Amino acid sequence: IEKTILMDSQAIKRALTRISHEINEKNKGIQDIILVGIRTRGVPIAEKIAKEIEKIEGVKVPVGTLDITLYRDDLSTLAYQPVVHQTEIPVDITGKIIILVDDVLYTGRTVRSALDALIDMGRPRIIQLAVLVDRGHRELPIRADYVGKNVPTASKEIISVQIADVDEIDQVVLSEL
Ligand code: 5GP
Ligand code: MG
Repeated sequence: IEKTILMDSQAIKRALTRISHEINEKNKGIQDIILVGIRTRGVPIAEKIAKEIEKIEGVKVPVGTLDITLYRDDLSTLAYQPVVHQTEIPVDITGKIIILVDDVLYTGRTVRSALDALIDMGRPRIIQLAVLVDRGHRELPIRADYVGKNVPTASKEIISVQIADVDEIDQVVLSEL
């Protein structure tokens, strides 16, 4: 199988530092911001962004998590249905700016479910989306506010995102199914 390294650990670090500055700039500061990582790898990515924001602004940003699993039903030619299992958000989200964080944005179905779950939990003022990789192929009208890297992919290609907290190293690799 052919594999191409799309981002090494330095490239990931630079992208997340840039995203942290963009979050700060777009929201005119980091007041009221809560980062919410989608498990598994959205969580360590959210934590890295929180650490960068703390370096820039000297303030800790709360980090929550959403656990979403993809299911195909028995009529499995249909697109998969993401199901939200667990949410751990340390503070009340009413009136807050939520930045959802995931590793890869693809069809948009996971984000749609995440939005439903968040809106059920309270009344956030704004919800924005940050992803490390946007691989295209959207099936819903969803886009990211902050993107580490745009990677136009073929459907048979997949992106392997490795984050040191979960994997051995930080890197993003393109490979074929
Ligand atoms: P969606 O299709 O809902 O936008 O993406 C579904 C979920 O699958 C996302 O949480 C994303 O992390 C994951 N995903 C989709 N495509 C890829 C991919 O190529 N690589 C990785 N690592 N995850 C993917
Ligand atoms: Mg995922």
